[in-house]
Amino acid sequence: MSFFKRLGALLSPPQPSCVMHYYVRCRRCGEVIKARADLRNELSIEYGEDERPSGYSYRKVLIGSGRCFQAIEVTMTFDPQRRVVSREVTGGEFVAPDE
Ligand SMILES: [Zn+2]
Repeated sequence: MSFFKRLGALLSPPQPSCVMHYYVRCRRCGEVIKARADLRNELSIEYGEDERPSGYSYRKVLIGSGRCFQAIEVTMTFDPQRRVVSREVTGGEFVAPDE
């Protein structure tokens, strides 16, 4: 990164955190998996009917570290400001960090 770019990055207002951590519990073995979504690199733009960006979508398949090979599919949608609109897990469920 060039000096000026870095300076620009320092001067720009603080960005909302671009990495979101979340926890998913495997429905089969109960393992809680900590995962992260990089909101800058892992989101796909969704287009609305007027062909303008309507938000973002995120999809990831998680597999626990234990002996269980249950694939847990996480799908989330975001509004244009990258706030979560809906989220869904197949093969598991979202849990709060302290559970
Ligand atoms: Zn499992």
